[in-house]
Amino acid sequence: MTITPLMPVYPRCGFRPVKGEGCYLISEDGRRALDFASGIAVNLLGHSHEHLVGAIQKQAATLMHVSNLYGSPQGEKLAQRLVDNSFADTVFFTNSGAEAVECAIKAARRYHHVKGNPHKHTLITFNNAFHGRTLGTISATNQEKMRDGFEPLLPGFKYAPFDDLEAALALVDDNTAGFLVEPVQGEGGIRPASQEFMAGLRAICDEKDLMLVLDEVQCGVARTGTLYAHEQYGITPDIVASAKGIGGGFPMGACLATEKAAAGMVIGTHGSTYGGNPLAMAAGDAVLDVILEPGFMDNVKSMGERLRSSLEQMIPNHDGLFESVRGMGLMLGVKMKVDSRGFVAHLRDNHGLLTVAAGDNVVRILPPLVIDESHIAECIEKLSAGARDYQVPQAA
Ligand SMILES: *Cc1c(COP(=O)(O)O)cnc(C)c1O
Repeated sequence: MTITPLMPVYPRCGFRPVKGEGCYLISEDGRRALDFASGIAVNLLGHSHEHLVGAIQKQAATLMHVSNLYGSPQGEKLAQRLVDNSFADTVFFTNSGAEAVECAIKAARRYHHVKGNPHKHTLITFNNAFHGRTLGTISATNQEKMRDGFEPLLPGFKYAPFDDLEAALALVDDNTAGFLVEPVQGEGGIRPASQEFMAGLRAICDEKDLMLVLDEVQCGVARTGTLYAHEQYGITPDIVASAKGIGGGFPMGACLATEKAAAGMVIGTHGSTYGGNPLAMAAGDAVLDVILEPGFMDNVKSMGERLRSSLEQMIPNHDGLFESVRGMGLMLGVKMKVDSRGFVAHLRDNHGLLTVAAGDNVVRILPPLVIDESHIAECIEKLSAGARDYQVPQAA
């Protein structure tokens, strides 16, 4: 037997965290690392945040799980808070990002179905998109590495170059249900969509009664300095998939929709055993307590600007390695002139700094949203030191 008990779908590394403290992770062998990966944009309050831990402990001891067959005061409360603070009129809770996207895809199709247009089932999505790992969500991306060997995939998706409005509009036909797009591509390499692109998609959706479905699983929940990133584009979506940061580390997600977009989502059309259980709702509620505090988003914005300008100042000192900085708020990426995966591993193993590699040779910098200036200074110090002693692997 050579297969590992833990299915070997991840290239696991020697850094094995066993404890988290604020913005730091501590490994099994006692190393301490500055966590500017945040579990890939999940731990937005850092680790072992007192308010979040307390809420989870209290709810776990009171009522952990009940079926969605019963009334849910906890779910109603959190849904109401999300509705009060967003474009949405209604929320379906899930356990993950992929499930939130699945719910969004189903809602978009059902919208047209109940209007008597079942042929309007195709969503236009974008190159280098990442929407999750279920069969539905890998069908919604044309990235070969995620689809290879899993065919046949789901029909009902077409792909256009990201941020290319004309190309997207050219794919619209009588079968189009709408668009599925990340306002800021995460996995694809921290690429914010342009204002014209987002506004253009909204305009065609209005004109042809299509659904604008946003995947804000990574860029949502205060990551960019607003509760959802689309707020900064001044557009209103029909459906938004949210997850990652929404539970602050507790596995949960949400599909947010307007009343109009959710017209088809009636009793019996969708469900989840765990989705929205009291423990998850307590976690989500505690996260909102913190991020909706006056001043929290302002701090994300100002820390984002500081981090960005510090990164920009660092680039000329290492211009053989780094090219540019991109992103929004505390969702930042450093575009490299060399493969970013090797450099991310070097920072982790030799400099105690955790970041995440992304497509297009980008180093994703996704700190907890509670960082202060000292964490930014430490990140820049470690990044610079890492850049100084990095030996670029020679291509074989
Ligand atoms: C992470 C991610 C997903 C998938 O979320 P899971 O919780 O891993 O299922 C979907 N969309 C985007 C944009 C993501 O970043």
